[in-house]
Amino acid sequence: MAASGGQLILDLPGFGPEVPDLASYTWIVANISGGKDSQAMLAELVRHATAAGVLDRIVVVHADLGDAEWEGTRELAAEHAAFYGLRFEVVARTGTGLIERIEERGMFPDAENRWCTSDFKRGPVRRLLTRLVREAEAAGHRGQVRILNVMGLRADESPARRRLLPFSHDGSWTCPCGDCTRRRRLTEKAEREGRPVPKHAKTGHGASNTLRHVDTWLPVHEWSTGDVWSAVGASGLRVHPAYTAGMPRLSCVFCVLASRSALVRAAQLQPELAARYAALEERIGHRFKNDLSVAQIIAEAEASPEVTAVACWQG
Ligand code: SF4
Repeated sequence: MAASGGQLILDLPGFGPEVPDLASYTWIVANISGGKDSQAMLAELVRHATAAGVLDRIVVVHADLGDAEWEGTRELAAEHAAFYGLRFEVVARTGTGLIERIEERGMFPDAENRWCTSDFKRGPVRRLLTRLVREAEAAGHRGQVRILNVMGLRADESPARRRLLPFSHDGSWTCPCGDCTRRRRLTEKAEREGRPVPKHAKTGHGASNTLRHVDTWLPVHEWSTGDVWSAVGASGLRVHPAYTAGMPRLSCVFCVLASRSALVRAAQLQPELAARYAALEERIGHRFKNDLSVAQIIAEAEASPEVTAVACWQG
């Protein structure tokens, strides 16, 4: 570990996928939740961006989930960005917050219908990308704006995340890059010939379009939980108090994917929010999870001593 400009720069040998050519991007967007994985990602990104001389191209973004998040999460994310002197943006879904949206839809999200992530994280971040393209154009940029979208997702977190590539192009039907063009031609050919479109020919519905070329980089994809905590400890960034209270992940307070023990612990820590979820569950007549209601979580939280063994979860 070395110090540079008052910041701690990590030097963890053997870590990380190949580093993309950071200098080839106009913007480097660091998605941070305020949790440990995004802290480790940010520290790692700052290390590489400093080496490439492009620290000023980083824009840190936090997708705000409002009341559904642990108190102080947004402020902590701002603190993490400020620690490195980086630009910070907060994005949120236009309209109601997550809890109100659950009421509007009359149902909770679940692992198969994770509309909470697309509506409250992916969508709002894409609007920020649109804004950054406009800023680049206003500053005189011509042609597609290159954006690197950086996230703290890790393979250990779930089978779906294990399948992700540490670096990938976020392609789409309208993206004019060589790869998307080739895929589009293969798709059109398959359709002309009445064949099913092969999987490798699909362009996806990614964030790229005619105005922006977006790639995704997951710098800590291969890291273990231990690696993450080592990096967080070395970074000097403050961690959210929910961890010290026993939560293994900093998700929504009541995440539909969380383990039973995590939900019970969360109800012990945030009884008022738990009561709000229970009333919501009652009103919409839809259980929080197929096999577990918020009412059951609260009953267990009240009947148990402080839960200390909190199981992590996949998702
Ligand atoms: S933390 Fe859980 S409930 Fe919250 S947005 Fe993510 S998946 Fe949905």
